[in-house]
Amino acid sequence: LLFVIILCPKSSWSQDSKAQKSEINQKVSDLLSKMSIEEKIGQMTQITVTNFEAKGKPGVFDMAKLREAIQTYHIGSILNVPNPGAPTIKKWNEVITTISNEANKTRLKIPVLYGIDAIHGSSYTAGATLFPQQIGIAATFNTEIARKGAEISAYETRASSIPWVFSPDLDLPRNPSWSRIWESFGEDAYLSSQMGKAMVEGFEGNNVAFKYHVASCMKHFIGYGSTTTGKDRTPSIIPERVLRQFDLTIYQAAIKAGAKSIMVSSGEINGTPIHASKHLITDILKTELGFEGVVVTDWKDIIYLHSRHKVAETNRDAVRIAVLAGIDMSMVPEDYTFYTDLLDLVAKGEVPVSRIDDAVSRILQMKFKLNLFQDTVANLKDYPKFGSPEFISEAYNAAAESITLLKNNDAVLPLAKNEKILVTGPTANSMKYLNGGWSYNWQGENSDTYAADKFTILEALMDKAGHENVLYTQGADFATFNDAEIEKTVELGKSASKIILCLGEKNYTETPGDISNLYITESQSRLALALSKLNKPIILVLNEGRPRLISNFEDKMNAVIQCYLPGNEGARALADILFGTINPSGKLPYNYPRYPNSLEKYNRKHTESLEDEEQNNDAKYEKSYSPQFEFGSGLSYTTFAYSNLKIDKSEINDTDDLIVTVDVKNTGKLAGKEAVLLYLSDNYASITPEVKALKRFTKISLVPNETKTIIFTLNQKDLQFVNNDLKWISEKGTFKIQIEKLTKEFLLK
Ligand code: BGC
Repeated sequence: LLFVIILCPKSSWSQDSKAQKSEINQKVSDLLSKMSIEEKIGQMTQITVTNFEAKGKPGVFDMAKLREAIQTYHIGSILNVPNPGAPTIKKWNEVITTISNEANKTRLKIPVLYGIDAIHGSSYTAGATLFPQQIGIAATFNTEIARKGAEISAYETRASSIPWVFSPDLDLPRNPSWSRIWESFGEDAYLSSQMGKAMVEGFEGNNVAFKYHVASCMKHFIGYGSTTTGKDRTPSIIPERVLRQFDLTIYQAAIKAGAKSIMVSSGEINGTPIHASKHLITDILKTELGFEGVVVTDWKDIIYLHSRHKVAETNRDAVRIAVLAGIDMSMVPEDYTFYTDLLDLVAKGEVPVSRIDDAVSRILQMKFKLNLFQDTVANLKDYPKFGSPEFISEAYNAAAESITLLKNNDAVLPLAKNEKILVTGPTANSMKYLNGGWSYNWQGENSDTYAADKFTILEALMDKAGHENVLYTQGADFATFNDAEIEKTVELGKSASKIILCLGEKNYTETPGDISNLYITESQSRLALALSKLNKPIILVLNEGRPRLISNFEDKMNAVIQCYLPGNEGARALADILFGTINPSGKLPYNYPRYPNSLEKYNRKHTESLEDEEQNNDAKYEKSYSPQFEFGSGLSYTTFAYSNLKIDKSEINDTDDLIVTVDVKNTGKLAGKEAVLLYLSDNYASITPEVKALKRFTKISLVPNETKTIIFTLNQKDLQFVNNDLKWISEKGTFKIQIEKLTKEFLLK
């Protein structure tokens, strides 16, 4: 069997039609001309709904407060969720109806725009379909999965009467300790741009099917994931050249795909908080990239220009700096100082009305594009697929394609039927740890929000293998040492033939997820080491938001599986992988570091540390590039052979495309999926070149003995980098293409 797959760039997603655009522009300018300055500044204000809750009655509106916000302060937007946790779609319907009724009583009846953190599905709605977190979506190397997931998330968020999601996350993490890596697509800019684009397309639809689509919000513009310390919201140092070559390309792709809004990073780059950077927000984002959508701040970030970053002496000054930098909407979210300060600044001529008009036009445009003037509340009858088996099976597929088999010594996996297994470890029996943060609430801390039919890893394994074949004890928790529990676990392990050791991290997000030690916690590694004394095969299952170091015991593990945070269906997918019903096909979207002092990315700028004759081999090994598992790693239960790497020209000039073909054959006994990754290296360049850079990828399915020929087309942009004058250029010379172990060189004349 021979299939040929042609991969050519898809025509860019259908943007708003010209006629629709000018019609909306007309409506916006008509409305704007009727608005008072108070009404305009109100539109730029976004506050949180918990503000309106009656004292001591979570989830119950204090109508007087809501009325004040809408009638007196003319607020344009509300974010996030009534306490406690996740309302049903019916409850959401009531909340949005209440808000909408108030808005309809105002002079101009401008709808309030409700925004929410729908992060891996409509994650603030009870019963919503929860997908793997973004890092797992990246590991699928399958953009269709990203698109489909966002489409379902949009559908279920709209079913909740909410038209705006704060997703996708386009951060490019540069430090593996960062507490939000799992919200990103990992360390590679190209992978992130392709996945981000697909998600934006899935969320936004083709700009006509309002009912089932939402406005997306790219975040967090820009450089947020690159804090030097790895701690959240601490400073980054990123040369603009680097920012342009990597981070900015991800946003560019998402803007092109039609993203309607963008959230600004809470961080600072090179000493300037992004919320204060006219250069980044107005000059680069709005002017150079032509972004026409809404720029919203992150949580309280204007106030933080004064209180945290200390670049504004007063709150009022902070408002002036941020609005002049190009902020359109302020996530205040707890008071009206933004509103009162901005009114005063405009009255005194410190902020021109034209800037206000620009901001408000963008916000109104978004409201018109989302059809909010017609339809603010969902008709629940229109959403029969909410939480349906069809949607759940997509979440299952996503999890199944994301889970990454990193090591499988002596084919210890898949497990045989009726094998007696010991399941242990702190992540083995928890829905919270399977899902991570942004799961029915901010940190994903409520465990009672998970439906009873959702399985933990333990439950899925019992279901799959039969209760009689599964032994369980927790073994350890994340922090405390419990030698008695470890002994008990080792004892229990004696009657099992294999051990499924489930380690990782508890749920967290943002600053509460900061750590000082990237190693997996000691209580967990102690358990691993104790179990290894049994001399039975151990399958290490990692359930974690970032790569916690395991080099102190990894060599004693027979198999390693990275699950990331696979979501509600993740445990079922994992059980199917462990028992071989599903063939794993995920690949790592980051380098998994081995040591705390070698946190290199795969596209690092050097290969090995300098040769030193004096050093013994061990020392050399420690100094050289040797991640625990490299970006792109991921095994299958079948084998794939790559051959016939060909390029259509060995020399090209600076207008030519280059066509690359390669054959991939399933040489094993099982059907499987394979992500095919093409890397490019610029052999010599005036700026030290990356060792290799991902330029194309695709995911294919192959039955045993089947061969597919993959065709990738590279263009001139792929050969370029940003030079010190901040220009994209290519330089003549040789380049190397690499697919798996195969390489080919060509010359740019
Ligand atoms: C986070 C954002 C989120 C926002 C609204 C912030 O703290 O950084 O990612 O969208 O809160 O909840």
